Amino acid sequence: MWESPVRFRGCAATVMLRFDSNFRPVRTPIFSIILYGLPFPATHRNGANVTVKLTAELTDKSIVESVSCPGLFCPTIAAEGVLTRIRTPGGIVSCVQLAALASVMERSGCLQLLITNRANIQLRSVENLTEFDLNALQDVGLAARNPDVDHLRNVMTSPMAGLELGAFDVVPALREIERYICQTPKLAALSAKFSIGIDGGELDSIRDRANDIWLVAENGGYRLVLNLGQEWRSDIVSEDPVGLVRAVADRYLQYADQVVNQSVKHRRSRKPRLRDVIECVGKERFLDGLVDCKISENRETVSHVPTFGELGEAELLHSQKDPDRIALEIVCPLGKLTIEQINGLIAVLEWFDLGEIRLTSWQTLIIPNVLRSSLKSIKIALAEIPLNPNANHPARGVVACSGKSGCASAATHAQEHAQLLIAQLAKYPDRSFPSIHISGCEKLCAQPRGSDPGDSMGRDIVLIGREVDGTERYSIEQYGLRYGLLCPDDAIAQIITSLSAKND
Ligand code: SF4
Repeated sequence: MWESPVRFRGCAATVMLRFDSNFRPVRTPIFSIILYGLPFPATHRNGANVTVKLTAELTDKSIVESVSCPGLFCPTIAAEGVLTRIRTPGGIVSCVQLAALASVMERSGCLQLLITNRANIQLRSVENLTEFDLNALQDVGLAARNPDVDHLRNVMTSPMAGLELGAFDVVPALREIERYICQTPKLAALSAKFSIGIDGGELDSIRDRANDIWLVAENGGYRLVLNLGQEWRSDIVSEDPVGLVRAVADRYLQYADQVVNQSVKHRRSRKPRLRDVIECVGKERFLDGLVDCKISENRETVSHVPTFGELGEAELLHSQKDPDRIALEIVCPLGKLTIEQINGLIAVLEWFDLGEIRLTSWQTLIIPNVLRSSLKSIKIALAEIPLNPNANHPARGVVACSGKSGCASAATHAQEHAQLLIAQLAKYPDRSFPSIHISGCEKLCAQPRGSDPGDSMGRDIVLIGREVDGTERYSIEQYGLRYGLLCPDDAIAQIITSLSAKND
């Protein structure tokens, strides 16, 4: 049995359809739709039968409204419920925000959350979040007051931002940019996929993630780096990060209509991506006079001094500027955290007087500012939840997109296959494995750069899903394997195992 909430154009109602696996009709409690040419809306309560023919019509993209980039105020419909994405700039979530989130999850019947590969949070619920829940998230700063710009709070930093010795503290810039976005209604005209990364030179770098704009800390300021298909370093360096974002956004708004009128081919969004606009107008024209590049002397610089992080030991530990404190990383298999784990985590944070967690784009979480003297006790407390800071956890490094359970484009059940793979890897506790990215189609959302398997620089293994003759298969193009089967004893798992053996 599966159920699918479907939203129809021209109709405010969201209806729930229920079918069994053979697509035989069953009863639905409330039903409101055109039934074979009946005038819209035709309401049928208590016992509407849904036929196979109607199923085909409902899944036709011409009548189903889809949201290509879900947000908090624009959830999208997936096979198993409503997907809502909460933007968490920098992946920083305070204890208070975590408690509000847990309450929302309890009220909406959401049993677990997903940490996305942009260090945001995805919830899956049966119905849309209520007004009350949206207000609760706004009250704690997990959402913008203006729903039209909330999804643009899509700002990434290293999870060690502001904590790492030798790196520039970009957290003030992060907060200023978030404030600017929330207070600037005209930004609603930006592409829904508009994204910003701020790089402070941390060892736990996120520079392998794709962002429209990068602000890269350099001696004396931030260099503007643009995503033009590949990263392109501009000559523009400014000590005003908000000024840089504002200037790029204003230039985009100035030219975006021209680009649409010239019918530049852009992706699913109706608004062109930033790189489409730059490509259309030319980067010289786009950047001409963009900002005053003057920077002052004597600013704090990025030293890139190694911090002697303790990664690679049995636990995932990251050194901090404060020598008495340490950041403890926790593996969350496939980025999932249950509501029980979240409540347990809140209790641990409160007990040890810790104010926040950091979500990572590799789908783990970090507890910063742990006193070294408390490390042993906090690990015992976390084990009770259970949460695992073990660097050898088989799920570490396995990333999967939502696959068929959450994405209409998926050809494979990427999440379920990733779980099988983790079980396979767990049979080899003494081996280290490369990172493994499992995507349900060629769009490669599970891969950090999301485009070309070659971008993984040969370190990672990229599985690309496709349906072949009714069977879900994966290819690893780096190793010349096209569409093998993925199951616990399959060829792909054997290749991964042999790769690991060669590395040993
Ligand atoms: S890779 Fe394909 S299946 Fe996976 S989330 Fe992206 S679009 Fe969906």
